[in-house]
Amino acid sequence: MAQTRAGRHFLQIPGPTNLPGRVQRALSRPTIDHRGPDWARLTFRVLERLQKVFQTSGPVVVYPSSGNGGWEAALVNTLSPGDRVLFGSNGQFASGWQKVAAGVGLTVEELQGDWSCPIDLAALERRLAEDQGREIRALALVHNETSTGVVNDIAGARAALDRTGHDALLMVDVVSSLAAMDYRHDEWGVDVTVAGSQKGLMIPPGLGFNAPSPKALEAVKTAGLPRSYWDWGRILEFNQDGFYPYTPATNLFYALDEALSMLLEEGLTQVFARHARQAEATRRAVRGWGLDVYCRDPRAYSHSLTAVVMPAGYNADVLRQVILERFDMSLGTGLGQLKGKVFRIGHLGDMNDLTLAGTLCGVEMGLAACDVPHVGGGVKEALAFLAKDP
Ligand SMILES: *Cc1c(COP(=O)(O)O)cnc(C)c1O
Repeated sequence: MAQTRAGRHFLQIPGPTNLPGRVQRALSRPTIDHRGPDWARLTFRVLERLQKVFQTSGPVVVYPSSGNGGWEAALVNTLSPGDRVLFGSNGQFASGWQKVAAGVGLTVEELQGDWSCPIDLAALERRLAEDQGREIRALALVHNETSTGVVNDIAGARAALDRTGHDALLMVDVVSSLAAMDYRHDEWGVDVTVAGSQKGLMIPPGLGFNAPSPKALEAVKTAGLPRSYWDWGRILEFNQDGFYPYTPATNLFYALDEALSMLLEEGLTQVFARHARQAEATRRAVRGWGLDVYCRDPRAYSHSLTAVVMPAGYNADVLRQVILERFDMSLGTGLGQLKGKVFRIGHLGDMNDLTLAGTLCGVEMGLAACDVPHVGGGVKEALAFLAKDP
């Protein structure tokens, strides 16, 4: 048994995120008949409001799955065995999606990028222009790379496809940006948007999402990859009447229904502004400590998380462990090539200024406790910013 600790645990990883009380209470409702009239009403209400969050007028497919399931679903519904997928490859989650693509029998091509910068759109455009035979059937990008805190320019990728007249499907992972950062499925011409439940949406892990464009729905007709559980067609058919072809994750839908209410009550514009402002406050704290933000392009700073570079010779995971033991706060570990080199501060989801202030205080106390070379008072910079900037 873990020792009992007073106060609440600070879960400041970039997902899963903290559950708002309203969401926790919604989760605890009794389970209902997933073929009854109450369920159908809930489905319609959730699906209609999800469209607002994805900024699409098209359908949103919800799976009882993690984000990985959403990745696989996007691929198997639209592509055929051996099809070439070009991945913007600048982080651990892009690599993860590539593995799924290779696993279902697709040909993976990497457009290698520096992890500390967004994918170079000029290089992307050159590769697309070169592909005269139109072998690339899909371009896949991670909007907000959760391993690095770097944001890729999705509208820019769309423009590169359009300028080269390339017909590849544009697939985008928004698992850690949806409902935290402005993301426009329709306006940016995305063909399949992939999301998950446990980050900006403020509900537990367990739901995966696909938002397909009309072009993606058309691609289904010729897509030859085997699919059954992930098949959009059957789900969308059942959704017409408010149902699913399997038992949906009913209590997670209660949670989603409540979280959507919260997001729309606050207003998406305000939700995005809150995340942007708290991200700025976090970066001010990092600089105040004399440390570096891992992302080197200020136009590409994530609003969901900040990856902080540890001074040479100091292990980020030792710092994280001390912060967990002493101050009961979980921070994100460095993933892949960044293991031990960075720690990640999650600042997305159900956050207010004092949650952020407590988080930053925990980091500053941890730096001091571990004798990590830094300047005290980074928190002061963040507080001054938060106090002045409403
Ligand atoms: C968390 C995350 C995922 C993975 O989702 P799982 O629910 O763990 O399968 C995928 N992509 C990004 C960008 C993420 O942040």
